[in-house]
Amino acid sequence: MEVFTSINDLKSFLKLQRAQNKSVGLVPTMGALHPGHMSLIKTSTTENDLTIGSVFVNPVQFNNAQDLEKYPRTLEADCIMLEEAGCSAVFAPTVEEMYAEKPLMRLDFGDLENVMEGASRPGHFNGVGIVVARFFNIVQPDKAYFGQKDLQQVAVIKRLVKDMAFPLELVVCETVREIDGLAMSSRNSRLSKMERVSAPFIYKTLAEAKNRLLAGDSIESVAADARTAFLKHQDFQLDYLEIVNNNSLQPITRLGPAGSSAICTAVYLGAVRLIDNILL
Ligand code: AMP
Repeated sequence: MEVFTSINDLKSFLKLQRAQNKSVGLVPTMGALHPGHMSLIKTSTTENDLTIGSVFVNPVQFNNAQDLEKYPRTLEADCIMLEEAGCSAVFAPTVEEMYAEKPLMRLDFGDLENVMEGASRPGHFNGVGIVVARFFNIVQPDKAYFGQKDLQQVAVIKRLVKDMAFPLELVVCETVREIDGLAMSSRNSRLSKMERVSAPFIYKTLAEAKNRLLAGDSIESVAADARTAFLKHQDFQLDYLEIVNNNSLQPITRLGPAGSSAICTAVYLGAVRLIDNILL
C-alpha cells in the first residue's frame, strides 16, 4: 500500500491506474481509524478495483480551536489498519499541501446547514464541502463512501454532488457500533473510563424513542421525552435532539416511509461532543 502526501504524486499514480481501466473508490476520513471506517474501506474494496483512503484532519471544518487541537492523530496505526482492510493507497496530505492558499470561496448549503450540526458549528459544512470537493477533484473516484453516522454530512454531500455535477456515485454505509450500542467514533478515545460507562445511554435513548414512535406515540412527545432524558442525566449536556427527514433535514410532523427519517442528537459527555442518529 502506497502512502502519498503529495497531490501530484497521487495524481500520477491514479493516472497510471486509470490507464488500465481500474475503477476507483474513495473513502475520506480524518484518521484515528476504527472498525466504522474499516467497514467503508471494505465496502469500497468489494465494489472497486482500487480503494483510496484519505486521512486528513481538515482545519477548515473546525470552528473550535481546542477540538481541532485535541483531535486524535494516529497516522501510523491508521496505515496498518488500512492496509489490512485492503486499501490500495493512502492520501495523507499536510495542511499546507491541501491549502497552499486559504480558499476564498464559501459554500452555503442553505436550509441543510441551518439545523443541527450546521447550527451548532457555524462554517462546519463550508469546510466539509470544500475539502470533499477537493478530494473529488484530486482523486476523481467512481464511487465515494460516507457513513450514515454523519447523517447531515451525507445530505450535504449528496447536494454538493448534485449541484456541482460531480460524476461519481455516493455510497452510504450503516453505522458500526460497539457491543453496548455506542456508535464508534474517533472521539470515543477521549472519554474517561466513567464517561465511557455512561456513553451507551445515547443509543439507548434513541432506540427507546424509535420504539415509541413505531408504537404510535406522537413525534412531539417522544422528542420532548428524549430531550428530557438527556437533560436529567447528570453526565450529559444536550446540544440538540431532532426528528428529521433524511434529505431535507427539517423536522417531520408524521412518520414517512421506512428509512426516510431519523432521530438525530448531539450531546456533550464531559468535554467530548458526540453525535448519533437512528433511522426510522
Ligand atoms: P471521520 O473520520 O469521523 O470524518 O469519518 C470518516 C467517515 O467514516 C465518515 O463518512 C463517517 O461518517 C464514517 N464513520 C465514522 N464513524 C462511523 C461509524 N461508527 N460507522 C460507520 N461509518 C462511520
